[in-house]
Amino acid sequence: MSVLVTGGAGYIGSHMVLALMDAGQDVCVIDNLTTGYRWAIPQEVTFIEADVGDEAAVSAAIEQHGVDAVVHFAGSIVVPESVSDPLGYYHNNTVNSRSLIETCVKTGVKNMIFSSTAAVYGTPEVSPVTEATPTEPISPYGASKLMTEWMLRDTAFAHDFNYVALRYFNVAGADPKGRSGQSNPAATHLLKALMRTALGISDHMKIFGRDYDTRDGTCIRDYIHVSDLIGAHLAALKYLRGGGESGIFNCGYGHGCTVLEAIDAVERVLQQKINVVDADRRAGDPPELVSVADKARKVLGWTPQYDNLDVIVQTAYAWEQALTARIDAAE
Ligand code: UDP
Repeated sequence: MSVLVTGGAGYIGSHMVLALMDAGQDVCVIDNLTTGYRWAIPQEVTFIEADVGDEAAVSAAIEQHGVDAVVHFAGSIVVPESVSDPLGYYHNNTVNSRSLIETCVKTGVKNMIFSSTAAVYGTPEVSPVTEATPTEPISPYGASKLMTEWMLRDTAFAHDFNYVALRYFNVAGADPKGRSGQSNPAATHLLKALMRTALGISDHMKIFGRDYDTRDGTCIRDYIHVSDLIGAHLAALKYLRGGGESGIFNCGYGHGCTVLEAIDAVERVLQQKINVVDADRRAGDPPELVSVADKARKVLGWTPQYDNLDVIVQTAYAWEQALTARIDAAE
């Protein structure tokens, strides 16, 4: 019994690899290294540099390692990039996922955990959102992920195959043991922008809009610590291996904070003023995106441990510092 992790060299996937190793599970990784890092995967883990759409490479990995479950993180995740390159996103996220699912069916792999996204809800008319809230993605990124959810649903109906699709809310923070974190310098997420500003890598961070209809005028998001998100994947793996039915689950804490509240938390935790600049609204930002995540707790038995913005900030900062030292040492 072995787990194949696609995208295991990336931010979230690398945390999954570490968690599986911590749990004594046999794991192998497939990643094309377009945005991931080889160094993010421990040396002792079998690593295959290939695309998830490469059926021969995926089949060989499945057969050689006795894979019974695939955890599928690989994909493109930058919303504005998906608007300018929709076909690239449909290829990388949808077409390649179709190939991966087909390879699983052909090789007899019965379990898949898929990284979906709250972006499938688009700009929801209600908040918080349940898994039954209508899915109306407003970007090719969200649509590419929703199409994969549909392929999984239809494949599970037609074949001896089960899946769990996890709809991630705003993933942030880093491994509390300091072994991995968000390493992509191109990442534009709020916590990343705040950490880069705190460390002086950026001169300031922009607040994208202060005129939203929220408690302080800035957008509200449900930030979830990456290790808790991984906890949901481990719970989903146990659930599927135990014969659980296919399903879709929100992954968030069920409460959100505003951009200004996140800045306050960073200033309080780091005891440092953050240089901020007001900017226009960013296209496509919903004012509020918060989950109802009870289903994952009830059905998967998921128990979050890091529902605390301060812990998110502390771990993200520690990782950003370590990353900066690593980059300085390499130069
Ligand atoms: N945000 C911001 N400045 C930044 C990055 C993000 O004000 O430099 C805001 C963004 O407008 C949104 C929230 O922070 O309201 C979360 O954005 P992020 O890009 O982290 O995640 P998203 O919700 O877009 O997936």
